Amino acid sequence: MSPTPPTLRAVVVGGGPAGLMAAEVLAAAGASVVVYDRMPSLSRKFLLAGRGGLNLTHSEPLDAFMARYGAAAGPLRAALEAFPPERLRAWAQELGEDTFVGSSGRVFPKSFKASPLLRAWLRRLAGAGVEVRLRHRFAGFERPGVLRFEHEGETVLAEADVAVLALGGASWPRLGSDGGWTGALEALGVEIAPLRAANSGFEAPWSPHMAKVAGAPLKNIAVAFDGRRVRGEAIVTASGLEGGAIYALSGALRDAIEGKGSALLHVDLRPDVDAAALAQRLGERGSQSLANALRKAAGLSPAAANLLREAGPPPSDPKALAARIKAVPVRLTGVRPIARAISSAGGVPFGETDAGYMLRKVPGVFVAGEMLDWEAPTGGYLLQACFSTGFAAAQGAVAYAANIARS
Ligand SMILES: Cc1cc2nc3c(=O)[nH]c(=O)nc-3n(C[C@H](O)[C@H](O)[C@H](O)COP(=O)(O)OP(=O)(O)OC[C@H]3O[C@@H](n4cnc5c(N)ncnc54)[C@H](O)[C@@H]3O)c2cc1C
Repeated sequence: MSPTPPTLRAVVVGGGPAGLMAAEVLAAAGASVVVYDRMPSLSRKFLLAGRGGLNLTHSEPLDAFMARYGAAAGPLRAALEAFPPERLRAWAQELGEDTFVGSSGRVFPKSFKASPLLRAWLRRLAGAGVEVRLRHRFAGFERPGVLRFEHEGETVLAEADVAVLALGGASWPRLGSDGGWTGALEALGVEIAPLRAANSGFEAPWSPHMAKVAGAPLKNIAVAFDGRRVRGEAIVTASGLEGGAIYALSGALRDAIEGKGSALLHVDLRPDVDAAALAQRLGERGSQSLANALRKAAGLSPAAANLLREAGPPPSDPKALAARIKAVPVRLTGVRPIARAISSAGGVPFGETDAGYMLRKVPGVFVAGEMLDWEAPTGGYLLQACFSTGFAAAQGAVAYAANIARS
């Protein structure tokens, strides 16, 4: 009789979407799995994402989808192909959450919430034998194969054959991911790209006049920077701009501000009307005041009109005024703090991992999710890459363990 092979002992650190997906795959492969998290409950950021409707993924063709990850598209491709958007949608459906494609191509659960999905998922994980240890803060490795946690003032050690770290980035630290893990990996010689705000808002030196419309949306605009133009919506804040259209350009804007101190964004307040037609309408304004013409002939909301005036006195010539409305210059001078960003860039560079997301310098330790060095716009790309890399890292861990057992 051949002896029963020992059960693979797997530890997952971080119970967000990436870590829980890794736990699910490891448990399905027969491993004993313990998930550790520093918070009193799991997946708090995922639940917050649910407050905005939970944009799980996107329905566009995979090649277009991949391109959203910019330089990281290559290193992420295998993971996204192995666990693509359709598979994520099928997975949600298995958990009782049907999804649908919104008008923008984004995919949402029909409930627009994360909580029912998370509840069903945690039940299924518990049924698969996955254990959860909360309030355990990962503090590094005691020695190879032994992870160290801080738990209620005590040190707790956990032995593992494989570990998947899915500790997230550094945005919204009060939800758990505070980027505090970087030191533990740097101590092992792993290079870490600095964590920076992604999908973030920006500061602009507003006059008091502009601050009066703080909170107002700028609907149906286009923003352009450095050769890229994005249609969407922005929101005026007390000290700048945020919102989907701004987030889409946030990587380039952030790099420019960090490099040169500021970035000049151009806002088209009427992207659906061409400059000639707009000039004609403005030319027919007769005795209307400028304020009325901006409202009636140009169709600008009060916030849009204020933004226009913020760039200097509006020209009186209709052609010049139309041109200004179609390209209002807004100088952005600062990046909003990472704590308020939707996601973060930076983290573990792909060069530090092998194809199965194992850290080259720390055999048996795998990384997944937002702690890897990639960034993407909002639109479902963030969660999709977290689920896909969680899936791939766990598969990498199972393959690694099988190799070790054979050798
Ligand atoms: C307001 C908001 C809305 C969003 N909406 C969307 C959306 O609609 N669609 C989308 O695609 N993305 C969205 N995102 C982004 C998405 O939620 C994240 O990209 C995703 O949750 C990252 O998953 P993760 O598993 O890598 O990390 P996280 O979800 O951050 O999970 C990491 C886990 O690790 C734990 N942890 C961290 N450090 C330690 C430590 N030292 N010891 C132990 N545990 C630790 C944390 O407590 C946490 O539970 C949104 C983000 C925000 C802030």
